[in-house]
Amino acid sequence: MTPAVSDIIEQARLAAQAFVEFGSGLFNPTVRLGVTGLSRAGKTVFITALVHGLVKGGRFPVFEPLASGRISGARLAPQPDDTVPRFEYERHVRSIVTDREWPDSTRQISELRVVIDYQTTAGAMRTLTLDIVDYPGEWLLDLPLLNKSYEQWSAETLAYLNRTTRPPLPKPFLEQLATIDAMAPADENAAIEAARLFTAYLQAARLEHRTLSLVAPGRFLMPGDLAGSPALTFAPLALPVEGEPPSGSMWAMMQRRYDSYRDVIVRPFFRDHFARLDRQIVLVDALSALDGGPEAVRDLQDALTAVLECFRVGRWSWLDALFRPAADRILFAATKADLLHHTAHDRLEAFLKRLTDAALARSGEAGAAVDVIAMAAVRATREAMMGGELPSIVGTPASGEWHDGRQFDGSTEIALFPGDLPAEGLKSGDFRSIRFRPPPLEQTDDGTPALPHIRLDRALQFLIGDRLR
Ligand code: GDP
Repeated sequence: MTPAVSDIIEQARLAAQAFVEFGSGLFNPTVRLGVTGLSRAGKTVFITALVHGLVKGGRFPVFEPLASGRISGARLAPQPDDTVPRFEYERHVRSIVTDREWPDSTRQISELRVVIDYQTTAGAMRTLTLDIVDYPGEWLLDLPLLNKSYEQWSAETLAYLNRTTRPPLPKPFLEQLATIDAMAPADENAAIEAARLFTAYLQAARLEHRTLSLVAPGRFLMPGDLAGSPALTFAPLALPVEGEPPSGSMWAMMQRRYDSYRDVIVRPFFRDHFARLDRQIVLVDALSALDGGPEAVRDLQDALTAVLECFRVGRWSWLDALFRPAADRILFAATKADLLHHTAHDRLEAFLKRLTDAALARSGEAGAAVDVIAMAAVRATREAMMGGELPSIVGTPASGEWHDGRQFDGSTEIALFPGDLPAEGLKSGDFRSIRFRPPPLEQTDDGTPALPHIRLDRALQFLIGDRLR
């Protein structure tokens, strides 16, 4: 495909921007770290714990610059992008540390700047600026739409909806769709209703399957501040195989909205945010997928393939002229490893590695260093041997009822045998419903109060360790 003139102009603008960023980077080195993952993967908790550890001095033995004492301090600073909301660090820390409640999750893109003062291995004093960009992983799944017309997307989506036998079935949407004549004059109320039923199906499927089976418009699940706007009020229609939409028709209206979604929302996100990331961590709630069974695991694998595909863009593909991702290190992290005994951490890591290996093989070389880790940004449990032999975890369940009907008051500790971690599907333990409260702070060796974690330091070492040498 030959790039359009507008894409070439865009490319020149981006090159100019990259040049300016490169120039200022020589004097004030900056790393833009992207943090993503599907909803509830653990992005908010990860960023809060990471920044708390940097600013307050966490127990990070594997994060060499901090462990060796070369980092003399880290502080928050005003962020560079004026139009991106700030990550609400203070509120989230208060929630975890003071209230011992999990913070509100990511709903849209946000940003936070941390400035790190350190000594190079040669002894010189330097500053590294770390810009952390938090964004919903659902948005990455929109990449294929950039190369797809409304008609193609409609046909593919309807083919899936008509074929699927996995509950919840999209029956209400398909029934309403049957009442819409794509050639008839545009009817706003029918469009709103179609978009509502289509979105409701996607959300129900996400809840039921615990992952995404349909790579759909990502903002239908994570609308950010665009909820209810026309660019999000469209749905697939049954269309003739050939021909053009009659002017003023339902088809024409849906097509225009789809085009807006693609051109005004998706494209700028990739160009202005995604492509500028230097490092990326993709958080994966692998335990929930394992809990959901083989189909949920397959969905997760498809989603990871789609995510990796985004990093491949510009290296070999048709989007070459549109944007080039700069990320040269990508870390896939299975979160909430504290829900397992440490004897199972390696197996969790191996499971995620298998998924990403398969994804890498399918999407081709990503052109960046990729690593995989099992981690808990905030470790909510301790370990114990139950009855002297069962490797168990101990924590304080949040108040409320569990899937098995047990009631908890939010202050009583329990010990739990989390079960083995077989290759596909979990036999025991419903990981979706295990919600331990965040732990109290721990004292590090020098007496600093810190949040306990599992391998957060290893993640940091991979992501930014080399930039602090
Ligand atoms: P986001 O949607 O990706 O921002 O996800 P959050 O960071 O809000 O995390 C979603 C939920 O997962 C939290 O409310 C916690 O219940 C749980 N969670 C996240 N990280 C951890 C962790 O390190 N350990 C434990 N036990 N639970 C976690």
